[in-house]
Amino acid sequence: MPGKVWFNGSMVDYDKLHIPLLNHSLQYGSGIFEGIRSYSGDRNVFIFRLKEHMERFQNTAKIYRMDLKYSATELEKAVVETVRSNNLKDSYIRPFAFYKSDEISLFPSNREVNIAIAAIPFGKYFGEKANRGVRCKTSSWERINSRILPVRAKASGNYLNSVISGLEAISAGYDEAILLSGDGYVAEGPGENIFIVSKGKLATPGLESSILSGITRDTVKTISQDMGMEVSERLMLRDDLYLADEVFFCGTAAEVTPVVEIDGIKIGDGKPGEITRKLGQKLSEAATGKTERYMKWLTPVY
Ligand code: PMP
Repeated sequence: MPGKVWFNGSMVDYDKLHIPLLNHSLQYGSGIFEGIRSYSGDRNVFIFRLKEHMERFQNTAKIYRMDLKYSATELEKAVVETVRSNNLKDSYIRPFAFYKSDEISLFPSNREVNIAIAAIPFGKYFGEKANRGVRCKTSSWERINSRILPVRAKASGNYLNSVISGLEAISAGYDEAILLSGDGYVAEGPGENIFIVSKGKLATPGLESSILSGITRDTVKTISQDMGMEVSERLMLRDDLYLADEVFFCGTAAEVTPVVEIDGIKIGDGKPGEITRKLGQKLSEAATGKTERYMKWLTPVY
């Protein structure tokens, strides 16, 4: 449980926050959010790619016609303050903006929003499974597409698509789902982008496959190109996943997580791949301040 939460400009006790039951964003999923990590380096604690996350937060607000009243820079400062006030090292940070309204109406007449930032200590999203690799199921649910909801927005309601596909996969005995786009191409996991490695080359679905434009996806592209590997964005079939040498998820929570089995078919030899392992290591080095050229991605907290 978080200790102190940044709430509309000041730090307040988490357990003193009371949100009305009929709150619009709780009832209808109209809140918007981000997911960010901080990492402890040798001497400092850093927030990873804070600027890009707050930019995406602002973009989500714009798409959903929400007036945040705080600039990206102000919210970046608030994120740093939240981590600092809670004395956190390796943490997961959750900025969340939601309507104040608790009237029964789909369209709140009062459009004022609350902004909260909570942070908790955080380790591996997939726990032990992250090391052995996760087993996935292609979802029977399609990934939402932009004829239905804006896929580049991180809004709570969008995530019912993720929740239902993840629960389906877990109920069937898998670790995670993989969603296809409305056109039947590979899109992403419920909270992760996806990459394949074939003959030493990387590929990942492009934005036309209705994916969230992931910041870790961008990080992985940059790191692998810097390592001299070819990375392409392209339409991807289920067959491409089954026949790849390696498959991995990436995301703020998932970091780089090997996918070792899909729909009961082993990927490669069914063990985490070497390139996946290397990229996971490089991401961790970048996030903990061990790589000079990627220091630009880090905001020091202490
Ligand atoms: N896709 C979805 C649907 C997600 O929720 C996330 C997590 N934000 C990602 C991909 C990965 O994005 P990022 O690397 O920016 O965390």
